[in-house]
Amino acid sequence: MKAKRILLTGANGQIGTVLLSHLQNRYGLDAVVATDIRQPSHSTGLFELLDIRDGKLLHQLAEKYQVGEIYHLAAVLSAKGESDPVWTWGVNMDGLLNVLEVARELQLKVFFPSSIAVFGDYAPRVLTSQWAPLIPATVYGISKVAGEHWCRYYHSRYGVDVRSLRFPGLISYESPPGGGTTDYAVEIYHSAVKDQSYSCFLKPDTRLPMLYMPDALRAMTQLMEADGERLRVRTSYNLAGMSFTPAEQARSIRNEMPGFAIHYQPDFRQQIADSWPESIDDSWARSDWDWKPQFGLDAMTRDMLAHLKKDIEVTL
Ligand code: NAD
Repeated sequence: MKAKRILLTGANGQIGTVLLSHLQNRYGLDAVVATDIRQPSHSTGLFELLDIRDGKLLHQLAEKYQVGEIYHLAAVLSAKGESDPVWTWGVNMDGLLNVLEVARELQLKVFFPSSIAVFGDYAPRVLTSQWAPLIPATVYGISKVAGEHWCRYYHSRYGVDVRSLRFPGLISYESPPGGGTTDYAVEIYHSAVKDQSYSCFLKPDTRLPMLYMPDALRAMTQLMEADGERLRVRTSYNLAGMSFTPAEQARSIRNEMPGFAIHYQPDFRQQIADSWPESIDDSWARSDWDWKPQFGLDAMTRDMLAHLKKDIEVTL
């Protein structure tokens, strides 16, 4: 076990579910305290119920478990957030400030996931740079921009070691997505394996940046273990894996499953996607902490389909 434990917030979500076992495998089962506002369907290791808006309880848990690092994942995501902007702001901002305050008081290290949703209509959409203007279109994006600035402020003012990544859409076979604009890119594989067809809520030519979960997990621990002296970005690092459209993803699936069919029924999420970058320039991450993704679209498709088919065989 590491000398101090890691506390994970939002542990039952799309990222939290897989990050929990990644951290347990890397540092030991007893080294991670999972927390969420909901009970997990099944749990391995330490778990505590925690509404991240409750800063007092967060402080108590950090002391009780001798926590040294917080991976703060709890948040309301882009598409879901638009249904209640004020509530979204409350969860995303009060939650982060509670984490930063506890980190300041107890001298903890923090990981904060930001998002490509920080960019908006004024950022160039192709190879969007680390320093492109941040004028987001959603309350989720506004909360991530503000969150990045709070992280940098706590680092420069109080010396809190906060590290952050701007995730693109994340794709995983192990856990369902939680109400984001890139959820289609996960659902499409599940539908392909179950029904050989998918109805997509974005237009066929909507190009968005994506990252396969094994790469995302590696990015998080690699950044957290990096030499702090080398980290020049204390807002949040751009991070890229691949970029593709729903039509290209369907073609990649058809290479493995020739009978697969896709239909398009764009909804309100099209407008959100249209405000986001098509591709990301992650050169600062590459030079500061040696980031390099391993998966492209076809390799991810083969891996996703193989795992999902295996899951179906097990349940039959
Ligand atoms: P998710 O919606 O799947 O999971 C979020 C978790 O937070 C859920 O388990 C939920 O129960 C929990 N939660 C919600 N409100 C809470 C509260 N008040 N207190 C405690 N827990 C609460 O989200 P995810 O996809 O796992 O994303 C995790 C983080 O990564 C978020 O900060 C998100 O903004 C960021 N991110 C995700 C993606 C992606 O594609 N999944 C992309 C960019 C950034």
